[in-house]
Amino acid sequence: MPTPVRLSGITVARAHGAGLRERIAKLDRAPGLAVVRVGEDPASMVYVAKKGARADRLGFHQRSALLPATVDQATLEALVLELNEDPLIDGILVQLPLPKHLDERRVLELICPDKDVDGFHAINTGLLSQGRQALVPCTPLGVMQILRHAEIGLEGLHAVVVGRSNIVGRPMAMLLEQANCTVTVCHSRTRNLDEHLRRADIIVAAVGRPNTIRAEHIKAGAVVVDVGINRLDDGSLVGDVAYDEVFPLCSAITPVPGGVGPMTISMLMENTVTAAERRQSR
Ligand code: NDP
Repeated sequence: MPTPVRLSGITVARAHGAGLRERIAKLDRAPGLAVVRVGEDPASMVYVAKKGARADRLGFHQRSALLPATVDQATLEALVLELNEDPLIDGILVQLPLPKHLDERRVLELICPDKDVDGFHAINTGLLSQGRQALVPCTPLGVMQILRHAEIGLEGLHAVVVGRSNIVGRPMAMLLEQANCTVTVCHSRTRNLDEHLRRADIIVAAVGRPNTIRAEHIKAGAVVVDVGINRLDDGSLVGDVAYDEVFPLCSAITPVPGGVGPMTISMLMENTVTAAERRQSR
């Protein structure tokens, strides 16, 4: 069997950034991104900082709103409505999770679908499910870019997606189906997960549990995409796939860290530029 390929999201993100700069140069004005963070959740602070830094490097116009954890629903909703009206803002991102007293769904549904660069609005979900032009959730979009960059032909493959969240698993399954894969979606109630995995030509793991995918699950030459991000007690980051034992059996695999993660931020930039292009061409 040929040597397995390590699919680096860092490499793909770099190549993608170059293409994005060319698209930005053709716009009438810089793409505008608004990032809303509520409270001081450490992971959210890191993500928001990373997104801001990337947007800075690409020359985006930015608005960042840092609200206290005690903010009430009405104030947050008023801010989203104001950002919807801001002509210089093309994309609005509300960093999740929100504190428990806030109605996350209501806030996300208030974002104008044209500015919903996370792709979580029901309108965008519906458009995606019909195969129409939509803003697509960043992580599954990033997975598709990695597969495209590696020139992995997807048509006719049996893809097994483990996880069915609205953020990753569900949209991932839709994108793979639209790329002409035959898709099986597995979740915590799936019977015989092992058997489904062993039949897969491509596995996308989006569970949030280390070692969910092991050597015994891999059909020789399968492609393995690890979306999971799990922090171990020693502080290290691992995915859902037991990388070392799976690597020799597959044809290609994304590492954690350095695989899907870097692409998620790239796709946020992509969606913001796409939103700007669509708004400016109207
Ligand atoms: P969720 O917790 O929302 O979804 C997890 C899914 O895994 C659910 O559908 C759940 O099933 C399923 N599941 C749980 N346990 C099992 C099991 N034992 N066997 C099979 N399926 C199982 O997580 P997300 O989708 O938001 O995220 C998944 C992972 O991806 C996390 O580690 C997260 O940190 C990571 N992530 C990484 C990103 C990146 O940029 N790389 C971005 C977003 C997420 P059920 O529906 O039945 O509960």
